[in-house]
Formats: sequence, structure tokens, C-alpha cells
Amino acid sequence: VFDVSKPWLNRVIERRSKAFLTAVSEVDFDVEPRSTYALVGESGSGKSTIGKMLVGLLKPTSGVVEIEGIDLASETDAAKIDAIRSDIQMIFQDPYASLNPRWRVKDIIVEPVASRGGNTEGLSERLLEQVGLSVQDAGKFPHEFSGGQRQRICIARALASEPNLIVCDEPTSALDVSVQAQVLNLMSDLKDDFGLTYVLISHDLTVVRHMADKIGVLYLGRLVEEAAPEDLFETPKHPYTQMLLEAAPQMDGFGREVLPPEGEIPDPITPPSGCAFHPRCPIAQDVCKRDRPAMRQINGIRVACHLAE
Ligand code: SF4
Ligand code: MG
Repeated sequence: VFDVSKPWLNRVIERRSKAFLTAVSEVDFDVEPRSTYALVGESGSGKSTIGKMLVGLLKPTSGVVEIEGIDLASETDAAKIDAIRSDIQMIFQDPYASLNPRWRVKDIIVEPVASRGGNTEGLSERLLEQVGLSVQDAGKFPHEFSGGQRQRICIARALASEPNLIVCDEPTSALDVSVQAQVLNLMSDLKDDFGLTYVLISHDLTVVRHMADKIGVLYLGRLVEEAAPEDLFETPKHPYTQMLLEAAPQMDGFGREVLPPEGEIPDPITPPSGCAFHPRCPIAQDVCKRDRPAMRQINGIRVACHLAE
């Protein structure tokens, strides 16, 4: 959750921006209202960069980020940008890093509303119950909660300003496996209750499988395939999607992504020629090294691969 008026939060965001600096190019997708669009890719695929552009934390050097008819990338009217921003919230991977440790939970939760001078009467209590915490938790501090509970606090804060769109960047990757499903289920229920739209960012296709209405697979800053989950899991068209499905990357003990065995991700600063996936692709041909594959439609699936049928 981002607020330009909070310097401590900006420092968190700045740190994250430096750690995940990635180029994104020619990525183009639409998110239907009240749907969940999942962006999946390994570290360095550009998924967090896209998430930050959606909430206005980063500006693209070209292109359009249109939310409810307003282009966040080019809009200069501060009032319009502010209105859109309160309509979009973000949930991060590490719930602890995005909670101010010196604030009580009730103040954390209502902050997005309080900072805009809105009515916060009874708000934190209501939201705590909605995310499965108790009213008695309102006076506690973030360190008194487990990881899963902290993510619930972040979700409550994201809901406070009644957003339409929530960008969730690896919302469960820092959590124990047993807790992940609970948080995903909660997100799913809240989506129905509040008519929310999610952009769900994940390195793990299996996490998004039951949440997403559509999945976009990213590789080195480009969209390589986009399909409904049933199509993507049953008939993945892009060799990279097939690789992801065969060897879903895991998190190590420090919450970092462990690469699948089939080769390293190339440096995004100097991507391979032609299809950027060709050094890892088991079926690459000469044309793949030479020409970048354009995005094509095959039976309702969008795929960028010379050889996909
Ligand atoms: Fe593999 Fe070629 Fe398709 Fe790229 S374009 S994914 S290298 S077959
Ligand atoms: Mg990331």
C-alpha cells in the first residue's frame, strides 16, 4: 500500500525498487473489472515492475497504463491522479516490511482514509473482522502477530479506502505453506464481497491456478503467453510455460526464488537476440536466434513463439 506522504514507506519502496530493477517491453494486457489477472514469471521477469506501474509507483518511459479511462502514465492533473490512486491499493510480499512497527494496528489500518481526511469511525474494527482478526487486535503492534496475521492487517489496510483494484505482489510467498491457502481463500472471499479486481503477481503458477481468470506469463520483461488457467495448465503453448509447469520454482529459506534446473535467466540488461528464451528453449531453431516472435492468437490463447501451434 503506497502513500506519497509517508517517507518511511517510501524508503521501503525505494529499497525494493533497487533490488528488483527490471526492464519491461511491449507488454500489453487488459484486466476485466471484478476479475483476477495473474502475472507469472521468475525473478527478473518484470512482474513487480509492472505492478508498480499499475499503482503509479513507477512511470513507464513509453506506453499507457489506463485505469478507469485515465492514463496514469501521462495524466498530470494531481487531483485526478490522487482519486485513481485511492482506488488502487497494493499488497506486498513481506507484510512486516510494509507495516510501521511503531503504530498500533488500528492506526495502520485507517491510515489511508485518515490521511485523506475521511471518516474512520469504527473502520478498523469492521475491517479486522472482515479479514478474520478480532476487534481486540486493534490496540496491538505489528510484532505481536504471525506472518499470516500481518498479511491480513495489510489486506485490511488495503481495503480501508474501498479500492476497486488491488495489486498483490507475491502476497503469500513469505508465508508458511499451511498459511498460504488461508490467505488466498480470504482474498478470494473478499473479492466476491467487495467486487474487487486483482492483479496477482507470483513466481508460482500453482499459486495462481485457482485464483486467476486469466494468466499472463512473463519472460525477461515480455509477455510470452496469455490464457485462461484451464487452457494454460492443460495445453500450454509456449515452451517456457511448459518448463514452468514441469519445474515450478521454489522459495528457499530466505524467501528468494530458486531457479528451475534448466539454465539461468539471462541478464535483462543484455537479453539474447531474437526470442529471448532461445538459450533455454529445448526446441529452438535458427529463426529463434534471429527474429523476435510476435504475439499471435491461437484458439483464444495469446502466445509469442515461432513454433507454437
Ligand atoms: Fe523456443 Fe523459438 Fe518459441 Fe522462442 S520462439 S520459445 S526459442 S521455439
Ligand atoms: Mg518481485
